[in-house]
Amino acid sequence: MNAETLARAALEPSGSLRTQLYIDGCWCAAETRRRLPVVNPSTEQIIAEVEAAGPDDVDCAVRAAARALPAWKRTTGTARASVLRAIAHGVEARRACLASLQSLNNGKPLAEAQIDVDDVVATFNYYAELAEQLAQTGASGVAIPSSAYQAQIRREPAGVVALIVPWNFPMVTTAWKLAPALAAGCTVVLKPSEVTPLPELELAAIIEQAGVPRGVVNVLTGTGTEVGAPLAAHPLVAKVSFTGSTAVGTQVMKTAADTIKGVGLELGGKSSIIVFADADLELAADLVMAGGFFNAGQMCSATSRVLVERSVQAELVARLADRATRTVVGDPFTAGVQMGPLTNRTQYERVKRFIERGKADGARLVIEGEAPAGPGYFVKPTIFVDVPVDSVLWREEIFGPVLCVRSFDTDEAAVCAANDTEFGLVATIVTGDAERGKKIAGELEAGVVWINAPQLIFPQTSWGGYKRSSVGRELGPFGLAAFQEIKQILMPAAEPPRAAQNSGGA
Ligand code: NAD
Repeated sequence: MNAETLARAALEPSGSLRTQLYIDGCWCAAETRRRLPVVNPSTEQIIAEVEAAGPDDVDCAVRAAARALPAWKRTTGTARASVLRAIAHGVEARRACLASLQSLNNGKPLAEAQIDVDDVVATFNYYAELAEQLAQTGASGVAIPSSAYQAQIRREPAGVVALIVPWNFPMVTTAWKLAPALAAGCTVVLKPSEVTPLPELELAAIIEQAGVPRGVVNVLTGTGTEVGAPLAAHPLVAKVSFTGSTAVGTQVMKTAADTIKGVGLELGGKSSIIVFADADLELAADLVMAGGFFNAGQMCSATSRVLVERSVQAELVARLADRATRTVVGDPFTAGVQMGPLTNRTQYERVKRFIERGKADGARLVIEGEAPAGPGYFVKPTIFVDVPVDSVLWREEIFGPVLCVRSFDTDEAAVCAANDTEFGLVATIVTGDAERGKKIAGELEAGVVWINAPQLIFPQTSWGGYKRSSVGRELGPFGLAAFQEIKQILMPAAEPPRAAQNSGGA
């Protein structure tokens, strides 16, 4: 069976995909009695309908998660690790179906969708390891010199957590939250994007089969207003972990403030790739293309600002234009296709507006990708040069296949231009001088810096940025800590003290 047929088979009434809400271990209809259409961005056809949950469903799911919490938080890290490994195993076994569903729903080429599924497997396996280590690291003694008291620091689950994710990397953004939340001992209400709910619904079915106790993971499809906002406001939710736009992230933070919830935010970016004259320009062109056009440029980490040392600008731009012209754009299931459509009509129209605005603002258009004829939200790779620093093209996140190039003359000017943004997610440096690369990396206001490397992200490391790109960090031990509370327990040391040294609180 080819990949597209596989995805379509999952959508058949007899197929594996469930399109209801998953609450308290049961698949159910939304109390709103409404359903939302899911669109294939390559054809603009409706491929499925999912439940449109409402505030009553949110309350029901949060209460289910709250009921499941006491038993789940008492499980050992080892027990939780085996559940996480079972999920990883289930995802691996359903790799072909999950990748195809992602390509069908999100529009990314199959090879990119497979990378995402592999990342999900690696993330669940990594947090299984961390869950196992919790027995050693979950409680640790603290030495307090010359005191009759001893203290212990414990890490405990944060409680019921709401996970709200976007449509550009649906499964990956979910896994980066869900795996550490479960490892920490939290129970979860997950809200996928209404644009791309299919991969997460398939994941919910895998979770059900992996032996996750009822109520520990609940999945609600629906809109931001009807599901996301009530989740962020719910008094029984201890923490909201959100990935999405900076505008909505701001709203989530404000809503969460009313009940003093913890928030983790992974938001937008406007990141730079800095190409020095001493760089291998073939490598530089590869890295610029991948940083700008992977996932049709719909990446929070898109390095869509290309800063190139003046003496090599013309040569680099010529190489980029040549590659952009040769990029095969089309249906993600067609062999040889390198770039799919944008994922939804709103984004498609937004990107087209940016391109028109760029032309009006005086940026020089080197190549404008004509969309292939026919339906689908296709935009070909587009490159602007000499983009004015005060233009929206240079300052705002475009989230599409549009590169903006400017030149620089000194290291200081490159750093200054890269940091001149309200965002601070990532940066890439391309140079023949490793020491120079490391020095520049130290000066950049960005949470991740790649030097002469593609945008590889390993679950053992960290994810998140400076300034308005993030609050907190995901992945690595930081991702686990984001779902933990810290508790200090102070008690007399082995010998009981004669008198309290300090009877006050913190
Ligand atoms: P979005 O902010 O529109 O939506 C994200 C999620 O929030 C969706 O599930 C949506 O339904 C929900 N939502 C909408 N309104 C809400 C509200 N009022 N309260 C609570 N939830 C609400 O973002 P998007 O268009 O889906 O995704 C694109 C954005 O995501 C880009 O800005 C991109 O940079 C960002 N992103 C960031 C990262 C990162 O790691 N920093 C990763 C991927 C995407």
